[in-house]
Amino acid sequence: MNLTPNVAEVRQVEERKTGKRSTREWQQMDAAHHLHPFSDAASLNAQGCRVITHADGVYLWDSEGNKIFDAMSGLWCVNIGYGRKELAEVAYQQMLELPFYNTFFKTTHPPVVELSALLAEVAPEGFNHVFYTNSGSEGNDTVIRMVRHYWASLGQPSKKTIISRINGYHGSTIGGASLGGMSYMHEQGDLPIPGIVHIEQPYWYANGGDLTPEEYGLKAARELEKKILELGVENVAAFIGEPVQGAGGIIIPPSTYWPEIQRICDQYGILLVADEVICGFGRTGHWFGSQYFGIRPHLMTIAKGLSSGYQPIGGVLVHDQVAKVLAESGDFNHGFTYSGHPVAAAVAAENIRILKRERIIEKMREDVMPYAHKLWHDAFDNHPLVDDVRTLGFFFAVTLVEDKASRKRYANGGELALRCRDICFANNLVMRATGDSMISAPPLTMTRAEADEFVAKAKACVDQLARELG
Ligand code: PLP
Repeated sequence: MNLTPNVAEVRQVEERKTGKRSTREWQQMDAAHHLHPFSDAASLNAQGCRVITHADGVYLWDSEGNKIFDAMSGLWCVNIGYGRKELAEVAYQQMLELPFYNTFFKTTHPPVVELSALLAEVAPEGFNHVFYTNSGSEGNDTVIRMVRHYWASLGQPSKKTIISRINGYHGSTIGGASLGGMSYMHEQGDLPIPGIVHIEQPYWYANGGDLTPEEYGLKAARELEKKILELGVENVAAFIGEPVQGAGGIIIPPSTYWPEIQRICDQYGILLVADEVICGFGRTGHWFGSQYFGIRPHLMTIAKGLSSGYQPIGGVLVHDQVAKVLAESGDFNHGFTYSGHPVAAAVAAENIRILKRERIIEKMREDVMPYAHKLWHDAFDNHPLVDDVRTLGFFFAVTLVEDKASRKRYANGGELALRCRDICFANNLVMRATGDSMISAPPLTMTRAEADEFVAKAKACVDQLARELG
């Protein structure tokens, strides 16, 4: 039985409830009552927000009826695309059956069990356990507590420090923002907290100088070794990194980087944590970014693509080596009311079933991914305004540069990128500006025809910026 109304019906119900508001009314109410994340309220409210009302596939619609290509999958999360009715059906059924129960006090429920077993199936070998959170930030906060608890349980409580990277993004909670290496986040609220230190990011184009990418990859990785020796291995709990730095600007490390990081973690016996919040669930063309790079982590933080953003859910996938110690060390005094929430778990499980059943990741890797990579390189490799043209899986990026030969970047590159982002948005394309990079991560379901449209639009917007700059 099909219980779920379609998008048009849902909108009719919504309009009956609220009356059909005009865009201006939505904007005024929003400005009056809503504090937005990562936004300057004054400039936002002066301009007025764009009101997104519904979505399907790779497209969004706003309250003015504009159809917008979402080449960011929301916030890198809607991996299976918008409008999958099956997920709505599962959520509806689960809400009727068991809308909430916790997993704290010797209880469990079918959706969380199903999801945990499915995750063990799709995760790399040895990852048979998962700890649930509501978000990636909470996942990384869990990592901090979990790695310290692990070492304390093994009788090494001094092993507390976690090494992370400049420009990494690990979330917005105090722990997550501390692990992250965003200086503009550290400036607010006295971060990082003690016990978290940062090393260089593997960004050859910016930091590689005269070294080849491979030489530079080794150099950047060896910053970890230096830091371990400086701190004393007896004080270091773990290293954490995103396989590809996402919010930092789609920074794809040189091929030598991760193998050297792996060697160092193995040699000094520190835990390796892969933050798979963006890379997980297909973004790299593999289930996990760790598989693409051959990383063997002990913990993997997950969120976003876990439910394709249809429900807020995250977690930490735990390798047997760590799970065994945790299982033998009594209470882990940590958890959230909504850890493994039944509705979120049911939706995430269905999302994974769809990814598997429809071979979405494999199809993307074998067909649209190479096609779209070629389009991206054809559009931008010889473009005078951009360099460091990067593609990996369904990550696409370019850096705005003043002089390609000397890798000279614009002093106001950040401003230019924001201008380019605004041009994209005005032309109904969502891309993001990070520093002086224009970045994109479309849904994994993007077709060849949609890839044509995406790249043509992105190129037209960069062309427009180039024309404006003269
Ligand atoms: N880790 C990474 C790599 C992310 O990109 C993000 C969010 O963008 C997070 C963690 C934080 O996830 P959330 O926003 O769900 O807390």
